[in-house]
Amino acid sequence: MKNDKTLRKYKSSGGVDVYKLPVEAFPNHVTNCYLVMDDPITLLDTASGWDTANAELAACFDGLREKFGAKISLKDVGRLIITHGHIDHFGGVNFVVRESAAELGIHELDASVIQNFKERLLVSSTNLHLFLARSGMPQEEVGALLQLNKWSKDTFVARPVDFTFDEGQVQRGKLTAFHTPGHCPGQVCLRLDDILFTADHVLSRITPNQSPEAITRWTGLGHYVQSLKEIRKVDGIRIGLGGHEDEMDDLDARILATLDFHDSRLNKTLDLLKEPKTVHDVSRGLFGKQMNYNILLAMLETGAHMEYLYERGRIAVTNIEEVENELNPVLVYQQQ
Ligand SMILES: [Zn+2]
Ligand SMILES: [Zn+2]
Repeated sequence: MKNDKTLRKYKSSGGVDVYKLPVEAFPNHVTNCYLVMDDPITLLDTASGWDTANAELAACFDGLREKFGAKISLKDVGRLIITHGHIDHFGGVNFVVRESAAELGIHELDASVIQNFKERLLVSSTNLHLFLARSGMPQEEVGALLQLNKWSKDTFVARPVDFTFDEGQVQRGKLTAFHTPGHCPGQVCLRLDDILFTADHVLSRITPNQSPEAITRWTGLGHYVQSLKEIRKVDGIRIGLGGHEDEMDDLDARILATLDFHDSRLNKTLDLLKEPKTVHDVSRGLFGKQMNYNILLAMLETGAHMEYLYERGRIAVTNIEEVENELNPVLVYQQQ
């Protein structure tokens, strides 16, 4: 289920208990946090930091006592690991650190999202503005989307991070990280014995949103596909636990389905580009008319697929005279 809010318990092959703590980060958007009873006791992700989400996260610990008899509270959490720098996963770090003794860690490529939040938001908003300006979207819509993008993230207060990591064992304890950039620059999947926490890299039903690397380095469909192929090589995984939705009993099948999905979206994009089109045109062709934040998601997803095809020479810019004479013109693409 997309928004299942049932507390669940798993046990890794090495005997470590894991609890799934689903929290409604935003209305109708549930983020799964996981409590790993390793040494140190580790919480993966925090949801959004909205008051309602913080209250739900705290209530999950009461639920663990009632449902599983687990004598544990938020203050027992010794370590907090953020799977990637998206607000629906890290927004609650200030709350969790305040309520516990947790040291906060995140992959080195996403640490600045927490530490220099405002600067990162402003720089990526500028890149987003440039992307939308050359996408062919009407100017007044661009302004409205930029506002919406800022508003959705404006409440977070930056804080220091205690440690960063890359591939391999994360500090002490049993968790091992695999860097899987694409959906987010510093996204990691974390292995605990035969369990893989897949964050937003692989999900049970949806395919995670993509955005062009032209906006943020280490995102883009090229990195994402590469990371899917890399994570397929991790063997001995019995169960995949995603940052949203349900557990995955056959992770490999889910990875293959995700790869297929992007292949077919690339083919649809190519089809639409038999005639010259802008990113905005193709986005309409792929997704139809969208509303509010979904307009932005559709534009980013389309931009990521067109960037992938462009980098591989399968589509090209056709209005090169304008590119020659203007600083940031609307780009028109066509299949080669
Ligand atoms: Zn995400
Ligand atoms: Zn997410």
